[in-house]
Amino acid sequence: MAAITRLVKRASPSLSVSSTAARRLFCSESSSHAPPQDHFHAPQRKDPKDRNVQWVFLGCPGVGKGTYASRLCNLIGVPHIATGDLVRHELASKGPLSSQLSEIVNQGKLVSDEIIISLLSKRLADGEAKGESGFILDGFPRTISQAEILERVIDIDLVVNLKLQEEALLAKCLGRRICNQCGGNFNVASIDIKGENGSPGMFMAPLLPPAHCMSKLITRSDDTEAVVKERLRIYNEMSKPVEEFYRSRGKLLEFNLPGGIPESWPKLLQALNLDDYEEKRSAAA
Ligand code: AMP
Repeated sequence: MAAITRLVKRASPSLSVSSTAARRLFCSESSSHAPPQDHFHAPQRKDPKDRNVQWVFLGCPGVGKGTYASRLCNLIGVPHIATGDLVRHELASKGPLSSQLSEIVNQGKLVSDEIIISLLSKRLADGEAKGESGFILDGFPRTISQAEILERVIDIDLVVNLKLQEEALLAKCLGRRICNQCGGNFNVASIDIKGENGSPGMFMAPLLPPAHCMSKLITRSDDTEAVVKERLRIYNEMSKPVEEFYRSRGKLLEFNLPGGIPESWPKLLQALNLDDYEEKRSAAA
């Protein structure tokens, strides 16, 4: 409660992005002056059997959260909500927050809890209004205080912690390319880590774009070597404790990526008990 009060007090009155929604999300039912239930912009709490999954993907920058979360979302039919995408969308909109955000993002730092929760709150409210049910959150929560706030308003069913050998992370961020037309995510890095002293080697082939995207590829402004190193440092300092937060609640599924998509995707489906999902779904239809 103290953390929430502190955050609400710090919430900048100049927030233009649904600052009211942010305050509503901050002022969860744990407050003794809890606002009426219909003020919350988090999805209404529902029994898990009456809604879709509410999952979180954790993992270092470059691990592939976006790739695997978006594939899973397509498979199970839930929205993929990546707070990094919400930040980039806000940046591109050139709204009043964009110059402040661009400075933070381009230094590899974390955006304040107030801003990120405001953006997320608005995204959840928009989704709810459209009848969305469930989600996979990617890139949120990234601090213990974000995890605590989320826990007060939303039941998270499962947290998948994606892991990859550290040597691969920098190369994957530097090799990342995005098509500025279709938004597709690709990677030009070819990763070949030799196994040493009993540790397994790993090969990840590049994920190349189709010919029609080739001339439209862009690189994220925060995917430079210096900024990626800072993002990795911040992950270890601020976000790694979030793993323990969920581990202690019995919600964390650790998943070591064994290689690129062809090796990892079937194993991830197996770990999530989704390997025969398509078959079960068509049998139930
Ligand atoms: P990502 O695409 O997840 O790497 O996020 C890009 C940038 O957006 C990060 O480096 C942060 O500056 C910002 N960001 C995304 N999610 C969060 C979050 N949960 N908390 C704070 N900053 C975030």
